[in-house]
Amino acid sequence: MDGHAMLGKVDGPTKAPMVILHSNNELDQWLAAAAGPVHFVPTMGGLHRGHQQLIRAARRAGARVLVSVFVNPTQFGAGEDFTTYPRHPDGDAQQAGAAGADAVWFPAMDHVYGAANPGDNPGRSGPPLKPFLIRTLCGPWRPGHFEGVLMVMERLLERVQPAVVVMGEKDWQQLTVLRQCLPAFYEQRCRLLPVPVVREEDGLPYSSRNSRLSPAQRRQAALLPQGLGDAAAAVQGGERRAAVLEQLVRRRLDAAGLAVDYAQLVDPLTLQPCPHLDGVALLGVAVHVGPARLLDHRFLLSRKPIIAIDGPAGTGKSTVTRLLAARLGLLHLDTGAMYRAVAWLMLENRQPIRSGEALQQLLETMELRLAWGDHGQQVIRINGVDVSDAVRLPRVTATVPRVAALPEVRQVLTRQQRMFGRQGGLVSEGRDMGTAVFPHAELKVYLTATAAERARRRAADMTQRGQTPPPLATLEVQIAERDHLDCTRTEAPLRPAEDGVVVATDGISVEQVVDKLEDLFHQRLSHEAWPAGHH
Ligand code: AMP
Repeated sequence: MDGHAMLGKVDGPTKAPMVILHSNNELDQWLAAAAGPVHFVPTMGGLHRGHQQLIRAARRAGARVLVSVFVNPTQFGAGEDFTTYPRHPDGDAQQAGAAGADAVWFPAMDHVYGAANPGDNPGRSGPPLKPFLIRTLCGPWRPGHFEGVLMVMERLLERVQPAVVVMGEKDWQQLTVLRQCLPAFYEQRCRLLPVPVVREEDGLPYSSRNSRLSPAQRRQAALLPQGLGDAAAAVQGGERRAAVLEQLVRRRLDAAGLAVDYAQLVDPLTLQPCPHLDGVALLGVAVHVGPARLLDHRFLLSRKPIIAIDGPAGTGKSTVTRLLAARLGLLHLDTGAMYRAVAWLMLENRQPIRSGEALQQLLETMELRLAWGDHGQQVIRINGVDVSDAVRLPRVTATVPRVAALPEVRQVLTRQQRMFGRQGGLVSEGRDMGTAVFPHAELKVYLTATAAERARRRAADMTQRGQTPPPLATLEVQIAERDHLDCTRTEAPLRPAEDGVVVATDGISVEQVVDKLEDLFHQRLSHEAWPAGHH
């Protein structure tokens, strides 16, 4: 996907000429010269179309775009290419300007590290690195590299204090390490905006190091994305074993005389080895081609992604799920409506809400069908009757917790929900999506809000549906009762999944919640592999 399209807007009609900054003073003056947010694109120079895409993605009305060019010594190991890394400041300034940067900052070593030689300050360190994130991919091959990346990023962010930092998905492990280890990102002092890999015509990612390849080496390098393409084709053909997929890539590259550091299938979020593809995984590769070490990766999908959203009523779950599904081109599976449909049917049949013969018979003969309208809205039919609206009636709302607590009902509906999950492509909402129905979902979210906030939302929702809400205090009691039933039922009680993300929605808008979930999703599946919109 085009990162530019992803971000909407661009600048106004007049734009001041781009500024070149060197010293910290110059930087500080530039930062202080105007109000408004700074969007920051940190680079090591050798700018190419990949970097330019980051710069374009950083451009927003009212924001100023700062690009830094700093070849960071602390992220290079002994024998790596620190001294030969491409350095072309004039070309960099020209490329940054053409992409719309407002300023380019070329800090010297002491501007970043406070000493001309980083070895002069032995006490220097960066934020702690979570060791599990460097057990795979480049971690074992580049000892000290990610520590150096964290160190420099912490220093750059402290100086610049940007609102947004734009980085490439090309360096997936770097992005993942920064997100999980750099306080600026996980404490959300600034927003990290990831941009899809920009590739040359033959599929090779743009990289500063490509400029060091001879024409013959450059042709060889194109085997990198081709090998990854072979693995993706094997997945299409049903292959799921990591060892086979990794070997496929490795053999192709070995045969062409490329020295492969690794070809490894990992979980995209935890970066742990993934022995068997089940859902989404990342196949990462690093090879040496002549003087350059090149990286590429490909997301492999054995089915479309699944997002599981759980949480009590009144947390904005339905609205959030609907909007998120539309943004990501996924189907909205409202499993609450399925339980409501069964409750509606039992009420229609004047059937007691309990286990037994009658319930067995009802479930055996019941035909529950889901369909999706043009705008992604779920249409639910039970025994041929469209009950999409009827399932929202207050008497159904009052009955559904007891119906959902019946183990037989849950079994039948869970089975049907899992059938939908085989192909994936869902955002499913309910109360046991992440814990029981889709434990392998790529993203599991638990939405919460205080009972008072939920009562307010429920009242507003009822008013909007033309119903008269009871007093807020009554709604709060109903909500607490429903929570108690949901959380204490024996079958799959309502609770966050162990590896789920809890999102409190008090005081934040629906849009903000959807943004957050979209962000969480893309920490697990890149924008390149799953662009917004159509699938
Ligand atoms: P570097 O100068 O190599 O440190 O890269 C600076 C930033 O540009 C990092 O966030 C990279 O992930 C990003 N980047 C480099 N190459 C590409 C590319 N081909 N596509 C997208 N982003 C890239």
